[in-house]
Amino acid sequence: MDIRYWNREIETIERKELEKYQLENLKETVFWALKTPFYKERLNTAGIFSPDDIKKISDIKKIPYTTKDDLRSAYPDNLLAVPKEEVVRLHASSGTTGTPTVIYHTQRDMDRWTELVARSVTMIGCGKSDVFQNMMTYGLFTGGIGLHYGAEKAGLMVIPISSGNTKRQFKFMKDFRTTLVHATPSYMLHMYSKLEEEGYSLSDFSLKKSLGGAEPHSEDMRKKIESLFGIDMYNNYGLSEMNGPCVATECLFKDDMHVWEDSYYLELINPDTLDEAKEGETGELVFTTLRRQATPLLRYRTRDLSMINPKPCACGRTHRRITRIKGRTDDMLIINGVNVFPSQIEEIIMKMPEVGTNYLIVVEKSGALDKLTVKTEVGPSIFSDDARDLNALRQKIRENIKAAISISPNVELHEPGVLPVHEGKAKRVLDDRKNI
Ligand code: ADP
Ligand code: ZN
Repeated sequence: MDIRYWNREIETIERKELEKYQLENLKETVFWALKTPFYKERLNTAGIFSPDDIKKISDIKKIPYTTKDDLRSAYPDNLLAVPKEEVVRLHASSGTTGTPTVIYHTQRDMDRWTELVARSVTMIGCGKSDVFQNMMTYGLFTGGIGLHYGAEKAGLMVIPISSGNTKRQFKFMKDFRTTLVHATPSYMLHMYSKLEEEGYSLSDFSLKKSLGGAEPHSEDMRKKIESLFGIDMYNNYGLSEMNGPCVATECLFKDDMHVWEDSYYLELINPDTLDEAKEGETGELVFTTLRRQATPLLRYRTRDLSMINPKPCACGRTHRRITRIKGRTDDMLIINGVNVFPSQIEEIIMKMPEVGTNYLIVVEKSGALDKLTVKTEVGPSIFSDDARDLNALRQKIRENIKAAISISPNVELHEPGVLPVHEGKAKRVLDDRKNI
């Protein structure tokens, strides 16, 4: 295997050294945090008045958690730690569901983020000979532009095409011999379903790899995308509060994602008790920015559920890994009293080769009870089959889902192209109970 490093020294640093480095940077982060009105008050209440009140890394536990609501309450600049003149970039969540959350960056912040992205694209084996078509939306959302500068720095030829316009995506992939794409898993599947219609075949392309992220997806969805396109797909996790993409990325071994622990202090907590999750337990990821000036965030609760994999990795990197995101604490559905994550349903349908590339989970009230409907698209050939075959497939999907989550859903099969497609993050769940 062609293992490459962007910054070998830091990527393979001994854990003891890493901890020293983390402590130093945590102190610096507290220094910046104390400059913001929001944290000054919070930290002082917790008995922290200067960086020297942090003596060892475990002192981080004295600091209260930060939540998304805190970020909203600090809008627009109660979390800004530097004079405005030092800020070179602002990113914000869309704000469609309330006050936006804002993250500011200094030039040093940008350079450091760029370095993490360069490390991540090098880690998946890409470099100067690669042509990178970035299909994530460019703009306030960090998915697109977030990858851009680091990929350039690592020497890739970047095509900043942004999302959508599938026909043009294909044309560019063919004409410029794209080798790497960055897209949501749902968009990859959507592209595949449009291939023939747009007059292309896989042999027109030189695609070798994809970086996939921004939305939860199962291992089976990854395998499906890899086998449909004949490529390697690497999971990439990030959130705008922690800069954006490349907080954690899979290496060539594709076995969980390395968190860049020199830049993000990683904790995992039980979201109900807020205690540290035990080894082998699923919990909520909590991150502290360790190398950011403009908007330092301390113990930020991501609401993303994962597990820590502390085992050494064959690639030689010492930064610990986290498992695929299972879902968010706020996307768990309670259906007739049973806790269900959309990812559990996805896992089942993606394992079934007869099922197509798009699906939607609908939950409604039916009298006093909740009703679960799973709508999926099936391949065109199957749709033209006998009605009995369709019934058998419907029954099989129902049984497989029931076996996994003990709820028997209604199953609807649709022709390809019927269910809604999203250019950005896919919306897989329609919970109509909230509208009653
Ligand atoms: P928003 O919180 O508004 O969706 P972001 O664009 O910052 O804003 O999205 C970050 C979120 O996207 C993460 O907190 C996580 O829930 C999800 N996400 C990002 N990458 C992945 C991934 N590789 N797997 C699963 N979920 C992901
Ligand atoms: Zn590795």
